[in-house]
Amino acid sequence: MISIARSASLSQPHPYPGRLITVEGIDGSGKSTQLLLLDRWLTSRGYPVRFTEWNSSRLVRRAMKRGKKKDLLTPTTFSLLHAVDFADRLTYQIVPPLKAGMIVLADRYVYTAFSRDVARGVHPAWVRSVYSFAPRPDLALYFRVPIEVSLDRLLAGRTKLKYHEAGMDVGLSTDPVDSFRMFQSRVLEIYDQLAEEFGLRVVDATADIPSQQKIVRRLVRDTLRRYEGKRATGSADGA
Ligand code: ADP
Repeated sequence: MISIARSASLSQPHPYPGRLITVEGIDGSGKSTQLLLLDRWLTSRGYPVRFTEWNSSRLVRRAMKRGKKKDLLTPTTFSLLHAVDFADRLTYQIVPPLKAGMIVLADRYVYTAFSRDVARGVHPAWVRSVYSFAPRPDLALYFRVPIEVSLDRLLAGRTKLKYHEAGMDVGLSTDPVDSFRMFQSRVLEIYDQLAEEFGLRVVDATADIPSQQKIVRRLVRDTLRRYEGKRATGSADGA
């Protein structure tokens, strides 16, 4: 077992008046669906919400796309590009709204790197140190689902799995579905360890969409209990 140094900022509450809520889970776990519903709910209640998503910064988009296409990136380079994306979004999309007292909803956070990059063979301590500047979320949800459920959901919505989502770059199998099973099983196992290490709140993601959303809203209400951000209408008691 490798001993892993915890980064200082991820183990302490952040100093900003806003709230940071993040979602994690393997592809097809349904986390984006839940975050979208949460966004609508909070917005409809007058909360100031900002949404940000993993790997969406324009800064690295082109390099990432080209590298992915030609399989040019080693897992470490891949990891560093994601970290650049994250640093850019943290600087411009996450910290400013947190400072302004807003609620930031992040579809995937550093735990995605801690699971996926490590599943690709990157050293756990190294990837933690790369992201050591990340503030700790006020609520980090982990949507836990068996591989077969996520696979069914993804294949119900489209005909093919994406190359990297199936972990084809790792070379575990030439069959995308088999590769998905093997790669995402590794990711799932690491997520389970991260849930303990970082106190991620586990949500049973096999349940139907409304039942999960009920749980999510309850957890968010707790997180917003002492939140003093402005709401467009009504009080800011988080109810
Ligand atoms: P993720 O962001 O984790 O990859 P998505 O939210 O995009 O997952 O959901 C993947 C697919 O599964 C979508 O087609 C979505 O409509 C469907 N889905 C999401 N949650 C559920 C659920 N609880 N039960 C059945 N299907 C779901």
